[in-house]
This record gives sequence, C-alpha cells and structure tokens, in this order.
Amino acid sequence: MDSQADHPKLEIFFFPYILGGHLIPMIDLARLFASHGVKASIVTTPHNVLLFRNAILRDQELGHDIGFVTLNFPAEEFGLPNGCENELATTNGDMFIKLFLATMKLQDPLRKLLSETKPDCLVSDRLYPWTANVTDGLGIPRIVFDGSGCFSHCVEESLRLYAPHEKVVSETESFVVPGLPNKIELKRSMLPDYVKSENGFTHFLNEALEGEIKSDGVVVNSFYELEQAYADYFQKEMKRKTWHIGPVSLYNKSNIDKVERGIKTSIDEYSCLNWLDSREPNSVLYISFGSMPRITSAQLLEIAHGLEASDHHFIWVIGRILNYSSKEKQQVEMGLLPVGFEERISNSKRGLIIRGWAPQLLILEHPAVGAYMNHCGWNSIIEGVTAGLPMITWPFSSEQFYNERFIVNIIKVGISMGNEHWVPLKELPRVTIKSDKVASVVNRLMGREEAEVVEMRKTAAEFRDKAMQAFQEGGSSYNNVDAFIEELKSRRKVQNGHL
Ligand code: UDP
Repeated sequence: MDSQADHPKLEIFFFPYILGGHLIPMIDLARLFASHGVKASIVTTPHNVLLFRNAILRDQELGHDIGFVTLNFPAEEFGLPNGCENELATTNGDMFIKLFLATMKLQDPLRKLLSETKPDCLVSDRLYPWTANVTDGLGIPRIVFDGSGCFSHCVEESLRLYAPHEKVVSETESFVVPGLPNKIELKRSMLPDYVKSENGFTHFLNEALEGEIKSDGVVVNSFYELEQAYADYFQKEMKRKTWHIGPVSLYNKSNIDKVERGIKTSIDEYSCLNWLDSREPNSVLYISFGSMPRITSAQLLEIAHGLEASDHHFIWVIGRILNYSSKEKQQVEMGLLPVGFEERISNSKRGLIIRGWAPQLLILEHPAVGAYMNHCGWNSIIEGVTAGLPMITWPFSSEQFYNERFIVNIIKVGISMGNEHWVPLKELPRVTIKSDKVASVVNRLMGREEAEVVEMRKTAAEFRDKAMQAFQEGGSSYNNVDAFIEELKSRRKVQNGHL
C-alpha cells in the first residue's frame, strides 16, 4: 500500500467496534466522509467486510474513494466459530466475552498497518482505548467515535465527579445529577453496576475515558441543535474538541441503502412497504429494542398481550431473545408468543411481526408510522428524532437510562414505559412491565387527540426539520465535516513544511 506522501488526497482510516450500534454508524460515517471528498478506508475483519461490501461498492460506483483494509480475526484462537466477528453473530454471553478478548489481538496488526500506510488520521471507536498507544508512537492524529451523543457522556462525568448516587439511602430514592445545564433526576436502580461499585468493566471504561481525553477530538453522531447545551458542556467544561456531524443515518438516501445497512433484513422492502402503504398516516407504532438481545420470553409474552389489548396497529421487531440454557431455549421455541397471536394480528391486519432484522430506516420514515417504542440506544434515538417521531422509552442497560431522560425531560418527545431496573448486557432481566402497563402507555401515546401528544408530535417534527437542515449542504453538521477535513489538510501542510 502507498504511504501518505504519495496521496494528494487526504486519507482517513475508520476502525469500527464489534457492537452493532457502533459498527453501523461508523460505516455511515466513513461513507459520509468519502462523499465529502476524502479517501475513506474502513479497517475491519473479513466477515464484517461482507456485511457492508454492497453498500461500499455502490459508493465506489458513484466515484467515492472508499474501501476496506482487512485485518485477520483470531476467531479460532479464542474458540469462536468461523465468521463470528461481531456481537450480532453471537448466541450467548460467553461468546461475547471471547469476542471482546479477541479484539485486543488486533493491536499488533493495526500498528503494522498504520506504520506502513501513515494515514492522515485514525477515527477509532472509543472502546478500543489501546489505539491511543498505537497512534501516539506514530504521530497519527486519533479521533474518537462511539456512536453516542454528548448528553450521556455529560451525565457519566457528573456521576464520576460528584457520586450523587452514594448520598441516597435506597435504590429507589431519586437524586439530581449535579452540575448539568438541566435538572436531571435518576435513581440508583437505573445506574450501571460498574458505576455503583468498581468491577473489571469500570477499569475498561476508565481506560476508554483516558483514551478519549488523550485523543485529538471526538466525532459525535448527533447535531448541534439537538443537544446544544450538552455539546457546549462537553466542549467547555469537559474540554473535548468536538465535531457534531450527524445524524449519520441520513447518508442513506436510496431505499437500497436504507435496507442494506449491514445485516440482511428478514423482510423484503416491498412486503414491508406494502403493509405500511395500506395503513393510515401516523397510525402504526414501530417497536424495536435495537441490535442486541434485550428481553426474555416471559417479557415477550407481556408485550404481546399488551399490544393485543391496546387499540393500535404496530410493527414489532422480535430479535434474539435472552435465554441461554438449552432447556429455556426449548421453552422459547414452544411458547414464544401467545397461542394464536400471530394468526389473529395477521388476519385483522393489526400488526406485522418481523423476526430477526428490520429495515429500520425505511420503516421509521414511512408516513404510516406514528410513534416508536425503543430501548434508548443512541442510534435508535437519533434515528427516531430524524424521522420526527414521538417515542415510548424502555431502557434496559448501558447508558440507556440517561438517554431516556434526554428524550423525556430535555427534548420532551417521549413518554417512559416505566422500567427502572438496569441489567448488565447479556443477563436475564426480570419481567418489569406487565401487559396492562404496555397497553396503557401505547394507548396514551397513540391516542392522537391528547394535548400532550399533539405537543410532542409538534416538537418531534421541529427536531426532524432541524436534523435535515443540519445535515444538508450549509447546515451545521455538513460544515463540521468540512471543518474537520480542513483541519487535517492544514496539519498535513504544516507537516510537509508548506506553512
Ligand atoms: N437496527 C436495524 N434493524 C433492526 C435492529 C436494529 O437496522 O432490526 C439498527 C438501528 O437502525 C440502529 C442500530 O441497529 O442503527 C442499533 O443501535 P442502537 O444504538 O440503537 O442500539 P444497540 O443495539 O447498540 O443497543
């Protein structure tokens, strides 16, 4: 491969993490940068290349300078099946840990690659803190990305600095998160275990934080107008150099791009659109809990009964279910949904069940979709905001309870399902929400005459317009991509002695 000196064009390497919610937006990010005229190289492993190959080929046909640089993945060394190179391909928590460990082995190949190619910049996922050591030694700028917005990082910082959760007496007592631009209330039960007491993951995240502080800046999948106060807080109080460049999902303009965004969808574009086309505007609730398994079969049943008891149409994406023992797996297969449920909702055209992977962007933007129930993963939130949809928030894990506060209390485009119990990723959560609660929250948000819902729809539509403006030529995110590129160009000129 050629070195930087041979390339008049700026070259940026993008190094995505193995979680769906990190991998998918990083690919959009690389494609976005290539569309702004730089050479974008996605550094990943062979099976992840396969997921995105078609999309990248389409970009190449448009003349964009984008491609993959492949690193071998040590699956066998860690006892992983061939092809298991991201979380989406795992079937249990043990595989997830092996995957996590296997990524550490990419360190040496990445160092070799970067020292041979010397790109102008590495955009590294935040969860590869070790990339800081690699780029430091080589004098390559390292920019951090993790697919999330600024808000959750501001909450994390406040909890770290002031530990307000240590001053309450119970898991259910509310406390205010100090020092933030708005009054944010949380409960101990909503906090990650690694925040409440130190464990291995606390140390890993501390390393990620140090890696971010040491980095040359942070690229954020959000737009300035959405989280202005927190973008400013992140820059001024937390001293991070930041570029808000999202929503990156807006890069996907054609239906094929919206459908082929990584995983193969379990429903084809036409069946999905036909079903939606036959529905009234704003009449359908879209339900998805993201890319990872989040609910148990028992919780699944409560949702099914709740949806059936509600008065509304829905598309429900049923992904992987959290059950690890073979005994439980059998139960899932036998009793997944209430007897006759699928037949009833299909005959009455009340609902569409998608088992597996949904073409989410295509669904969210359809006029028939009127609201979105999600787990408060940041990509889901920003995609919901971009579609101008009010939301039902149902967080489970990670930083999702912080994101819920953003939707419900800050931008006020959602109502909470009421779950208050954080669970570690890949652990079986209790049934926290019963069917009657599901039905009443769905009826509350989908009942279109309610004043609070009318107001939420109006606010959501305003944020959708702002998202579109930010992303298009002349908008804040568009300008930030160009500003980022200009900064790297100036750096190169200085290095080459032209200034
Ligand atoms: N997604 C999708 N189809 C699905 C499930 C998820 O396209 O059936 C995409 C979704 O559009 C989003 C990502 O997967 O871009 C999930 O990211 P998020 O941060 O919301 O959640 P995570 O799964 O990382 O918790």
